[in-house]
Amino acid sequence: MSFALHGIGVSGGIAIGRAQLVSHATREVAHYTIPQSQVPAEIERFGTAVREVQRELEGLHAALTSGDVPGEFGAFLDVHWMILNDPTLSEAPKRIIADQRCNAEWALALQMNVLVEQFEQIEDSYLRERKADVVQVGERVLKRLMGRPGTLPAPSAEEQTILVAHDLSPADVIQFKHHHFGAFLTDLGGASSHTAIVARSLNVPAVVATHNARHLIRDGEMLIVDGSGHVVIVNPDRAVLAEYRLRQNEFDLARQKLKRLRSKRAETLDGMRIELQANIELPEDIEQALQNGATGVGLFRSEFLFLNRSGLPSEDEQFEAFRKAAAGMQGKPVTIRTFDLGADKQAEQFDGLARVAPNPALGLRAVRFCLAEPRLFLTQLRAILRATHYGNVRILIPMLASLSEIDQTLAMIARAKETLREQNVPFNADVKVGGMIEIPAAVLSIGAFLRKLDFVSIGTNDLIQYTLAVDRSDEAVSHLYDPLHPAVLRLIGLAIGGAAKADVPIAVCGEMAGEPQLTRLFLGLGLREFSMHPSHLLGVKQRVLQTDVSSGAALIDRIRRIDEPDKLNALLEKLNG
Ligand code: PEP
Ligand code: MG
Repeated sequence: MSFALHGIGVSGGIAIGRAQLVSHATREVAHYTIPQSQVPAEIERFGTAVREVQRELEGLHAALTSGDVPGEFGAFLDVHWMILNDPTLSEAPKRIIADQRCNAEWALALQMNVLVEQFEQIEDSYLRERKADVVQVGERVLKRLMGRPGTLPAPSAEEQTILVAHDLSPADVIQFKHHHFGAFLTDLGGASSHTAIVARSLNVPAVVATHNARHLIRDGEMLIVDGSGHVVIVNPDRAVLAEYRLRQNEFDLARQKLKRLRSKRAETLDGMRIELQANIELPEDIEQALQNGATGVGLFRSEFLFLNRSGLPSEDEQFEAFRKAAAGMQGKPVTIRTFDLGADKQAEQFDGLARVAPNPALGLRAVRFCLAEPRLFLTQLRAILRATHYGNVRILIPMLASLSEIDQTLAMIARAKETLREQNVPFNADVKVGGMIEIPAAVLSIGAFLRKLDFVSIGTNDLIQYTLAVDRSDEAVSHLYDPLHPAVLRLIGLAIGGAAKADVPIAVCGEMAGEPQLTRLFLGLGLREFSMHPSHLLGVKQRVLQTDVSSGAALIDRIRRIDEPDKLNALLEKLNG
């Protein structure tokens, strides 16, 4: 039976392929079939992950026994050790891999489900509760596996694989960068959630907030995912399939055409030079940024270096990632945002710190978290400073709400510089430090902020969330998440105006920056720097090239004064007309 599901298209384009359901196991785990020839390697990958967790537990045990720690922690680790080494956990998944020719994560998740069910049958309540230990141990192994994903068989161009999940965290999605899925859809998620943002960076169509796709779609069913049309068609008939194949070709053709603009200067018809920079999550993304003509990196979301791993990234590891990005951009600016963990980006290492917050988006997130963990912050600041020696690196502080956070961060940077000087490590002492404007309080304090910062960048994703009190990742309120709410536009206008007055560079790096239908609006408000996902750069550049800023001034004036959203839409259409 053919039917359609509607959601929020968070990444444009059309994909046609077969559904692959992502499991509901202890966490969302990908499931894919591997060729027979890959079975031994997959079994080995599982074995390696188990051995790594064995070593991890041994390390923890050694640390505990050498310290002044209560004995029950040792006993607790012993239980985990026993569970890990029991063949039901360490051997059974190998048989599942061989029998079902599936990936190791899936085999382990299946076996964990079996074990959990067995534990639930146990009458003795103490033993029954050991089920939580089984899950914890299994998850440790899963994390190891996910940190080193297996090789997915390359899908044929005709038959792509489309992931269907209930929900995916940004950490889950980033792993798919190494895999080649045609598209993905989730039941949950908001348009500006980090999951959606990472989905965009995979360059595949994605639709979130489909509500019950995971229940309604079966493994292997044919799907059309139309990210631009916000729709998923399940089991399309021939005519619909033919129509979408045509649209898919048109979309690809239009994308190809845009590529011609890659090395063209972004300049408006009235001669204003515009900076179009890229948002990246990992240093590897530099390639895509350059392919799309980015004139710099306006936002490197450094927190992604902390996800999908059991230990923390060392100073050297972070430095290497930043150095790679800085060198790759060949002198163009690379703006490294200090890690913005918390809320929907939870690093496993910090369990208990941010996750237990009653309202994580208002809790210990971003700069608040950095300042609460000065050792981690200092490590990262040293890594960024070291990278300044290898390119044009700038530091960006996320989620500032008050001047004291700027002062404390600047003091930390000074301290990091001091330690590097003492060790004769080279760095650029004049490194520019900027702040993200993502909270209404920051906009309303912009004058004072600009006296302390070298540049600012408006994070519209959070600015909308915090202005309208709408959780950006909650699909239940996604209809209220309105980038064009007059209050949001007013705040953006205030920030841009304040920065112009103080002669401090200002950019927009939220998702709004990548929407060509908003380009003229931003230009009219005085914005000259945009940072967005690389795949949006050429579409926005095209719009810049077609814009005469001065001729839109009267309309922009009216937009600034408008307080009714309906009228605003009409004016925006006129501006874009
Ligand atoms: C934003 O909030 O607009 C932003 C760019 O940062 P992030 O999406 O990573 O929170
Ligand atoms: Mg933000």
